[in-house]
Parts: sequence; structure tokens; C-alpha cells
Amino acid sequence: MKHSPKYCLFYDNHTMKAVPDVGRNFDAEAFTGRLRCAGVDYLIFPARCNQGLAYYDTKTGIRHPSLEYDLFGRLSGACAERGIALTAYFNVGISSEEGLRPRDWTTLCFDGRELREPRLTPFVRTMCYNTGYRDHLMEMVKEVVRNYPVAGLMLDCLKSFPCVCPVCVGEMKEQGIDCSDEDALPRYALRGTSPVRPKR
Ligand SMILES: [Zn+2]
Repeated sequence: MKHSPKYCLFYDNHTMKAVPDVGRNFDAEAFTGRLRCAGVDYLIFPARCNQGLAYYDTKTGIRHPSLEYDLFGRLSGACAERGIALTAYFNVGISSEEGLRPRDWTTLCFDGRELREPRLTPFVRTMCYNTGYRDHLMEMVKEVVRNYPVAGLMLDCLKSFPCVCPVCVGEMKEQGIDCSDEDALPRYALRGTSPVRPKR
């Protein structure tokens, strides 16, 4: 059935793994009831946040360690009952927890640093799509699409971060790109489809 949303809410929440009691007092029925009273008919809510932590029962990813039930599942069911379309949010470019296991899924900076500046942002640990991370993320997306009645996906921070990890350097050599040329890295990251990004 075609859905023409009038009023959307986007919950842009990202929860550090040290946060206790995640979802403990969350009441999906009451929550979606309040949304409906406010006229909301379209909701965007994290299936996996930029900390790399999932809010649904995942066999592939890492569920938030203090979350004791399938929060996204309960929410999707309650949304379906009230006619609220639900889009699943995934952060693609950033994943603190998944970037720690395995470590070679993260991008490597030109000067050899694994962490980026400025340190006080979620962009500290960014992900290389040339690694197993790409398939891992795709599997998580498939899990959500298969198992929950979602109306769509929001794939956030889908950026191409310059990277000199062994996989990227190997591919650059194959393509005749000089991986010691700092200006060539953003072009390689974008696969030549867009102008060179300004330096961050
Ligand atoms: Zn790489």
C-alpha cells in the first residue's frame, strides 16, 4: 500500500556501550501511541548506530551490551499496528565497536594513524569498504529487511574516506595510482566519480 507520510520524526540517537539499562523502561506501545497523538506517521529509528551497536536481535552484528531484548523488533511491531511507517537507520561510514573487531576493517590515515582528527567526534574511527566490513554491513541490512516490517533504509555517513590500508594500497597499485600522492587518495576513494573532496 502506498504511504504518503505527512509528519516524520528522526531519532538520531547513538549510545555508547558503557551506557547501562538501554531500553529498560521503553514501552513501544506507549511510545507509538504518543507519536500517533502528535500526528507522526513516519519514523526513522536506529537499527545500528554510529557506535556500531545494534538495537535488534542480530546474528551478524553486536547488540548493545546492556540492551536485554529486541527493541527495534518491538518498535517495528507497534509501528505496524498503528500504521506508522518505519525506516531503519544504519550508520555506514562510522562504527566504533565493529572497528575494534577485527581491527583491519578501519581506514588507515595517510600518516599512519588509525584515529582521525578531531578526536571529539564520532568520525574518529571510520570504516574501509574494501574490507570484510562491506559484506558484514550488507548482512546486517539484509537481517533487518528480512526480519522486520520496515518501509525503508537510511544509510547515513556513506562517505568515502581516504585510506592506505594494505587492501586499498594494493588496489591503487593495480590501477596505476600513486598511493604516496596524498591528493590522489580522495580521488581513489571516490573511484573517480566525483571531484576531489576538500581536505578535512
Ligand atoms: Zn582501505
